[in-house]
Amino acid sequence: MNSKFLALCYHYIRKDSNDPFPRLLGTKISDFNNHVQMIKEEFTILSLEEIQSIYYNQNEVLGNKIGIAITFDDGLSDQFEAAKILSENNISGIFFIPTCIIKERLPANPIILHYAISIHGVQKFIDELKIIFDEMMIGNKIPELNKNNHNIWKTIDEIKNLLYYKLKSDQTRKILIEIYKRLIIKENITIDDMHLTKIQIKKLLEMGHSIGTHSHTHISVANLELSKSELEKELTEPKLILESEFNTNVISMSYPFGESKDYLNAKNLIQKTNSYQLAFTIKNKLNTKNTLPLEIGRYMVHSSDNSNKLNKILKKSEIL
Ligand SMILES: [Zn+2]
Repeated sequence: MNSKFLALCYHYIRKDSNDPFPRLLGTKISDFNNHVQMIKEEFTILSLEEIQSIYYNQNEVLGNKIGIAITFDDGLSDQFEAAKILSENNISGIFFIPTCIIKERLPANPIILHYAISIHGVQKFIDELKIIFDEMMIGNKIPELNKNNHNIWKTIDEIKNLLYYKLKSDQTRKILIEIYKRLIIKENITIDDMHLTKIQIKKLLEMGHSIGTHSHTHISVANLELSKSELEKELTEPKLILESEFNTNVISMSYPFGESKDYLNAKNLIQKTNSYQLAFTIKNKLNTKNTLPLEIGRYMVHSSDNSNKLNKILKKSEIL
């Protein structure tokens, strides 16, 4: 017998209709509901404690059944509805929280970008970015939209690449906080609309869900240019913030962005911090007892994954 499991990574869980931000891409709540019913029928759902148990107590949690862990990144406000659905189904989910939403009550980097673009469109975002770059005397060229808007997603990817990988992380943070003030708060939209509140996170824990960290401001922590103090702030301190704020044990983290350029291998993570027993990436793989517990893979659920499509993907992943 061998414990095998897949982990799912969700981001936005949006209302089916009357979404005040229709341009935010995410899983519709009705799809999420269907996913949960399908997973309940066909798989064994694993809590964080059960995953911990596979690696640290050598328990045969699963026998021959494939397990599924349900995780959420970014501490988004709309995930509270998903938490309620899971709770009604006696399922324990895992929520990875960027701690800037707790300590400074400021949104995480990509969430600022998502909301600013979803409210104003890409052109306005680029225009404001130009003003801020001028004010901060940043010389980097800002990607432009094509005249016919053919490649809007390509331009957005180029902007993300500039902000998340080319500029220094403290500079990017300053830029995005300015964007937050000028394009989001000015529209009377606040962090409470974007992220979970402390009260909601307390309620999540009362429902039986687990929380883990997702860095502090949501940066790529594998970036080689990060200083020791930046790593401390983004990797080690978030655990202490969650533990003291919510009086709970934090044993897990998920990597912001989560791709191979964004996560450290287990050995490198331990060199930088020994705070965690479990770390999750978004490398799509079937996890086994032999998977390193600091390199657990997840499938990132897409907005177009209805429950049939997700079922096929999970069945295919079983034999990966
Ligand atoms: Zn994230």
